[in-house]
Amino acid sequence: MAHPSPGAELCVHLRTATAPAAFETVYVLDEQAGITDAVIRCGECGAHVLIEMLDWRGSGFAERVYRTSLVDAADAGRYLHDRARGSCDVRRAGAETHALLTLARLTPWLLAMDERASTVLGAARLPDDTDIPTQSWRERLGDRRAQGGEESPFWAHFARSSTRIE
Ligand SMILES: [Zn+2]
Repeated sequence: MAHPSPGAELCVHLRTATAPAAFETVYVLDEQAGITDAVIRCGECGAHVLIEMLDWRGSGFAERVYRTSLVDAADAGRYLHDRARGSCDVRRAGAETHALLTLARLTPWLLAMDERASTVLGAARLPDDTDIPTQSWRERLGDRRAQGGEESPFWAHFARSSTRIE
């Protein structure tokens, strides 16, 4: 769990739920029937954002909610350069990914996306003092199944604040 990094805000384009900007998927870190963790780039301003899945639902688990973190363009560029060089050293690749995740600044914004259509469904801002789960979705959803599989509370934020999710 972690509090959002002070001053870290998702760019206005991605968080405008009624007309979200197009985005480009720059690098996929993890996937399961679609993207679970990735670095995306805003189609309007070029901001790099790390998205990490908190929960999924719907047919084929296509509706997904992600926590978001800001990544400096320089950090993203260095990471992509290192990955493109194709280090075959698995430990080094892990260290590079760990460095990228460590440098990323957690924002209070959640993004909901439709994985099939690669579209933003909505954005919701959590209160600044929210403790946001930071472990991998693989651990999170595994824990939840073990606890009986009730729906995550994160969807409730979209019902209140977004015009795009019913
Ligand atoms: Zn933007």
